[in-house]
Amino acid sequence: MQVPLLDLKKQYQEIKEEVLKVTEEIYESQYFILGPHVEKLEKEIAEYCDTKFSLGVSSGTDALIISLMCADIGKEDIVLTTPYTFFATAGAISRVGAKPLFADIDPSTYNISPDSMIKAIENLGDNERSKLKAIMPVHLYGQCADMDQILDIAKKYNLVVIEDAAQAIGSEFKGKRAGSMGDFGCFSFFPSKNLGAFGDGGIVTTNSSEMFEKLVKLRNHGSHPKYYHEMVGGNFRLDALQAAIVSIKLKHLDSWTKGRQENAEIYRKLFKEAALKNVKLPEEVQSRHIYNQFIISVDEKRDELRQFINDNGIGNDIYYPVPLHLQNCFTDLGYKKGDFPNSESAADSTIAIPIYPDLNEDQLIYVVETIKKFYS
Ligand SMILES: *Cc1c(COP(=O)(O)O)cnc(C)c1O
Repeated sequence: MQVPLLDLKKQYQEIKEEVLKVTEEIYESQYFILGPHVEKLEKEIAEYCDTKFSLGVSSGTDALIISLMCADIGKEDIVLTTPYTFFATAGAISRVGAKPLFADIDPSTYNISPDSMIKAIENLGDNERSKLKAIMPVHLYGQCADMDQILDIAKKYNLVVIEDAAQAIGSEFKGKRAGSMGDFGCFSFFPSKNLGAFGDGGIVTTNSSEMFEKLVKLRNHGSHPKYYHEMVGGNFRLDALQAAIVSIKLKHLDSWTKGRQENAEIYRKLFKEAALKNVKLPEEVQSRHIYNQFIISVDEKRDELRQFINDNGIGNDIYYPVPLHLQNCFTDLGYKKGDFPNSESAADSTIAIPIYPDLNEDQLIYVVETIKKFYS
């Protein structure tokens, strides 16, 4: 049996007719960048994420960069974040000229730990503490970080909060939507995210009209009016085609999310029946986990397990094999192995198994049986 980690071909069949219709309409109009389709999507996403505004941008990475720029974060500044995330989180901080400061994760959720954040801040000297300007929590795998505590810390140290919600559209913390709690929420429409475009794209949410107006300018080289620049922005624009396709997909998002949540429930039942003592399942602690990934953790032979299920037709991946404090490009930050044991141990023990909504129960049973076979 084949069980790919992700296969969107069936999903495409569901929306094909609508996609081809809007694609043709955009081709006929020859209006490709921003415009009415992007504006329509911005309204819909703001509503979906329960924020006042949203601004379509060129990718999730650019959503992070434009938010940092909007908050005037740059050279000399420090931004606190997690080392256990996709590279773009810390990459964006570096690209605006600021320095990432890492704090370890909570091993039960893989999200940044408030205790480690406090420790990291308190370990800073006075001079460095005055440079700390923002926190960038990541809602990893589709589950929100502990936003109550993160917002408390932000308030105490007067920090901007930029939520990296690239994997978490529609997920909730105590009933509040990802991207609605911080100053900015950053989302990605990379095809493998729960709401993916047919290429690159992203969106920023905010509740501040002042920040929104600034984001609008930054998206288009800081110009206002056209050809008059009071600030340096970039080309962070979203294509009409991508916006139109994402807008079609958004109508299905809740039912696709339900499919992922149901698959997670089935996995939990099957793993429980299989009683594998060395497999740890992901903990669901927040009110709405959207399962961009279903991550198991194993206490031995992770790489051999990967090879075995791979050989048996089961797609899988490691998110992420090298925590960011140990990446070559960040050696000048001065971190070393052992600095963030929870992140390092997650990198060595986790494995993502297929969870997308179009999987059937037989495939899920096959995944669990294959893992059971490996350990017996
Ligand atoms: C995907 C992702 C990004 C970047 O999004 P792109 O659209 O690929 O640029 C940033 N942060 C996290 C946590 C992601 O998963």
